[in-house]
Amino acid sequence: MSRLLIVSNRLPITVKLDHGEIVVAQSAGGLATGLRGPHERSDSLWLGWPGDVSRLDASQRAQLTRNLADLRAVPIYLTQGEVSRYYEGFSNEVLWPLFHYLTDKVQRDAWKNWKTYAEVNHRFAEMVAEHYRAGDLVWIHDYQLSLVPALLRRRIPAARIAYFLHIPFPSSEVFRILPWRIEILEGMLGADLIGFHTYSYLMHFRRSLHLILGVDAHSEHIHYADRAVRLGVFPMGIDAASFSRLAEEARVTTEVEAIKRECQDRKLLLGVDRLDYTKGLPRRMLIVDRLLEREPSLRGKIRLIQVVVPSRTKVASYELYRRRLDEMVGRINAAHATVGSVPIHYLYRSISEQQLVSLYRAADVMLVTPLRDGMNLVAKEFVASRVDEDGVLILSEFAGAAAELAEALQVNPYDIDRVAWAIKKALAMPEEERRARMQALRRRVLAYDAYQWASSFIGTLQSVYREGAASSEFVSTPEEIERLLEEVRSAENLLSRPNWLLQMLH
Ligand code: UDP
Repeated sequence: MSRLLIVSNRLPITVKLDHGEIVVAQSAGGLATGLRGPHERSDSLWLGWPGDVSRLDASQRAQLTRNLADLRAVPIYLTQGEVSRYYEGFSNEVLWPLFHYLTDKVQRDAWKNWKTYAEVNHRFAEMVAEHYRAGDLVWIHDYQLSLVPALLRRRIPAARIAYFLHIPFPSSEVFRILPWRIEILEGMLGADLIGFHTYSYLMHFRRSLHLILGVDAHSEHIHYADRAVRLGVFPMGIDAASFSRLAEEARVTTEVEAIKRECQDRKLLLGVDRLDYTKGLPRRMLIVDRLLEREPSLRGKIRLIQVVVPSRTKVASYELYRRRLDEMVGRINAAHATVGSVPIHYLYRSISEQQLVSLYRAADVMLVTPLRDGMNLVAKEFVASRVDEDGVLILSEFAGAAAELAEALQVNPYDIDRVAWAIKKALAMPEEERRARMQALRRRVLAYDAYQWASSFIGTLQSVYREGAASSEFVSTPEEIERLLEEVRSAENLLSRPNWLLQMLH
């Protein structure tokens, strides 16, 4: 089996200092889960940034590199300046908002950070090239590393390279706003296989290739710079079985009962999101506001528990967003509170896996209403945790997950009135319908999980090389084609046609 080199911005580990000792812990998360199997099975390596290690001295860093080697992880160290320009500046303040259609959030002086973005991508490509052995499969992840496929191809022309984009690929009309649109497309095209979560992201990418590079992109097999590139759709899954298992444990059942007792006869709405302007949190608060305005009888009868996980705290627009959200929650709670309760219970912190699954299980209605989201794993985790086959999922049609989760109540998060109406519908939904929808959702989420996602991507990548090897028996260079045609022309009769032609005719 080929060795796999996984390349992502962050290594799936956290580094801590405990009384001067380096402690390295493996972190969970969709990517780490899906790739754990292939990573362990095939003597593979994972390359990426280990996080901020500026507090470590030289000998501690050397120790860290050794500890990581035991986990088959290769650290790519970045300076604080690089992190602020390549990661925070260009990746998170240019590519992230643009690819999520929030063009007004794109940093105006983005060009300052482009240079560092390109330099860090060069560094990643160099590190991968250093560790590459003939026959390896290289799987590069996400928008922070969009130039690495082509940079690596330049160093190792025969390398087997794949790239997966974890965020949306936007409409070509939005993508072409980017001054570095050619560089990014050409960077991605260095791969042999490029994967997206949904078919519509793939279509947008094809349209951009046509519009910007003039590439004939009418199918999923394209040709660019004398190479074939395959495009494919691979919706990422979660470790569904582990969520279901945890949801059935006694400690979770006890916590679910406690949450329900505390809610008394109030219905529980739940939101779990990273603090990010793509998640549509202020609009979600306005939806609750609208619902309570329209249906005053629901006052004191519903409660939204909104978990907001701190994120990208060093990026200025995130701090502003947080303040706006705080103010909004305060205003809405003040407007609709009764003596005994407030409608929005707002937690700004991360919670444990047990608390998360308990909340998923206790919720009557799960609100997943991002303005744009590459996939949204929370929606799938909610479904996987509902071992009781109950609960209603309200899901934004602008989350990648909507392409798979047809039995959710799908909504346009910009249409506040209709989402408020969807909540009312969810609260009144008969048990039979809730069950039918949840059973169908569960079948899909459990079947197409994180392991399936990784193995189908790697399987497709391997088939790309098998097909490539097979087709190269027939067609190669123009000289080769001319030689073969000459053979046909000079054949005395049909029976003496060369074997390759007979094969083609079949
Ligand atoms: N999550 C977390 N800490 C929490 C609550 C949730 O790490 O306190 C996890 C959640 O379980 C999910 C992830 O954060 O796996 C969020 O992934 P999603 O795809 O929904 O959105 P993203 O944050 O990647 O945009």
